[in-house]
Amino acid sequence: MTSFIGSNQGGLSFPTLTGAAKLAGVIGCPIDHSKSPALHGYWLSKYQIDGAYIPMNVEPADLETALNGLRAAGFQGVNVTIPHKEAAALLCDHLSDRAKAVSAANTLVFQGDGLLYGDNTDGLGFIENIRQYAPQWQPDLGPVTILGAGGAARGIIDALIREGVKQVTIANRTEARARGLVDQLTQAAVASGSMLQTYRLDKIDEPEGPLSETALFINTTSVGMKGQSAFDLSFDALPKSALVTDIVYTPLETPFLAAARAQDLTCIDGLGMLLHQAVPGFNSWFCVKPEVDSGLRAHILAQ
Ligand code: NAP
Repeated sequence: MTSFIGSNQGGLSFPTLTGAAKLAGVIGCPIDHSKSPALHGYWLSKYQIDGAYIPMNVEPADLETALNGLRAAGFQGVNVTIPHKEAAALLCDHLSDRAKAVSAANTLVFQGDGLLYGDNTDGLGFIENIRQYAPQWQPDLGPVTILGAGGAARGIIDALIREGVKQVTIANRTEARARGLVDQLTQAAVASGSMLQTYRLDKIDEPEGPLSETALFINTTSVGMKGQSAFDLSFDALPKSALVTDIVYTPLETPFLAAARAQDLTCIDGLGMLLHQAVPGFNSWFCVKPEVDSGLRAHILAQ
């Protein structure tokens, strides 16, 4: 359900865009399942902003052309999503430290000086989601175990290192990818006094494995997404005080979270990460720092 601010004539709603409207959007391929237009649309409406946020399907070969065109058309900036995050980072004139660390950008700003700035807010979104729903979690509570070594895992591990987590164990189906991720982030980890290690995914729940000391257990794989298989995983080795979170949010209650909840573990779903990662972009383009409130969550769940 989409709602617009503006006049309501004869039951029809009209957005209040003027010639001075600020424009932003999201570029992906495909893009039709993106929740970002609904998310930013909610905030544009809530804060009565003269602006629009538009989904754009752009083929990888056309990314640079599209960005140049959007800049020429006066856009403030865009989000970029799969498969463009790495390519977008390469097209930026400068990157935030966190985008540089993971060689990927999801939030681009067309600056007034003609330069393109790139940020990566996935890790921030992850941490803010944990803070919102489990304020008791602190980086020094204990080691973190992560399933997955894809793009999202990279941003999350970088953020965990920055937060001061001392030990992160990564278990991925393709072990070489987990080792590559460790190689990429080890320098930053060492500088922060953190230790990264890999572990076999098929042995992750064994009693002598890393789960027994884990304070935060995260699924960053796409396993458990609607229509996909689920992990056959035991949570028995995990301390009862551990926090469990899944960044998959379709379904909201993934098999991973359902199994953890059945063991009375504290669980956090992945929707909040999506909502929080959008805040810096909206703030940059529309000059309002938006709130991640229950109305936004309900709006996205109603889509
Ligand atoms: P990605 O780069 O493609 O990585 C996918 C990860 O899932 C890899 O670690 C992959 O392992 C693993 N995987 C896929 N199928 C598997 C299977 N059958 N068994 C075991 N592992 C499997 O994707 P991504 O960008 O990191 O995204 C991962 C998930 O997070 C997606 O579901 C995405 O929608 C979600 N996500 C959520 C948010 C949010 O805001 N909540 C943000 C970003 C992503 P291999 O390396 O072995 O292939």
